[in-house]
Amino acid sequence: MKLPLLSGALVLGTFTLAQAQQGGKPEDTEVYEPVPKAVAASPNLAPPPADAIVLFNGKDLSQWVMTDDRNTPAKWKVAGGVFTVDKSTGNIETKRAFTNYQLHLEWRVPANITGTGQARGNSGLFLASTGKGDLGYELQILDSYNNKTYVNGMAGSIYKQRIPLANPTRKPGEWQSYDVMWLAPTFKADGSLQTPARVTVLFNGIVVQNNVELAGPTQYIGQPSYNGQKGGAAPIKLQSHGDKSEPDSFRNVWIREL
Ligand code: MG
Repeated sequence: MKLPLLSGALVLGTFTLAQAQQGGKPEDTEVYEPVPKAVAASPNLAPPPADAIVLFNGKDLSQWVMTDDRNTPAKWKVAGGVFTVDKSTGNIETKRAFTNYQLHLEWRVPANITGTGQARGNSGLFLASTGKGDLGYELQILDSYNNKTYVNGMAGSIYKQRIPLANPTRKPGEWQSYDVMWLAPTFKADGSLQTPARVTVLFNGIVVQNNVELAGPTQYIGQPSYNGQKGGAAPIKLQSHGDKSEPDSFRNVWIREL
C-alpha cells in the first residue's frame, strides 16, 4: 500500500496515522497456523429471550445510526425481515452504548458470493466501537467455508488477535449465528489498565473463543494496546468492508446487559 499523506485524526478505513507512524505492513500480523478444524454445526436461530433489548426486529434500523455521523439514521437496506450492508454508505452502530453484555446476531454471506480471502463476504461485529471508521474490537465476519486466509482473520477470530478454536462456518447462503459474552476493559483513575477486555464467542452454537483476554482494540497494522483507551459503555458496530464482494445480511439481533 502506498502511504497517503495523513494529517490530524484522519482515518482511512482501518489505517490510522498512529499505525503509519508505528511502521510495518498489514502482512506482519497475519498468522497462518494452526488452522482450526472444520466442524459441522447448527446455528442458534432462537427468538430473543423476554428480557432482551431487541436491536433489529425484522422491520427497521431505528436502533442504529451511521458511525461516521451519529446524527444520521442507519442507511443500510431492510427487506424481507433482514438488513443488508450498503457498501456505499459506511459502518453502522447502535444508538445505545453498552458495557458488559450478552449479544446474539445472525449473519449470512450471499449464496452467490465472489472473491477470495479477505475480499469474500467480509464484514465485522465490533464488540465495542471506540471511534469512527473501523476503530474498535472486531469479531470477524467472513466467508470461511473453503476460503483460505490468515487464521487470525477468519470468521470467529478476534481480528489479528485471537484464532478461533474451531471452524463451524456454514456454506454461503446459509444463516450463521454469533452469541457473544463481552466484558469491557476497565481502567484506573490514572488511565492505566485495570482489567483487560474479555470475550467468549459461540459460533453456530460451538465455542470458538473461550473467555479470552484481549490486548487492546483491533489493529490492522502493528500490535494492539490499551494506550489512550477508555473503559465504559460503547456502541456496537457493524462493518461495511471496502471490498467488491456481494454484501452480507443480518437478522435477529438482540442484547442483554450484564
Ligand atoms: Mg471485517
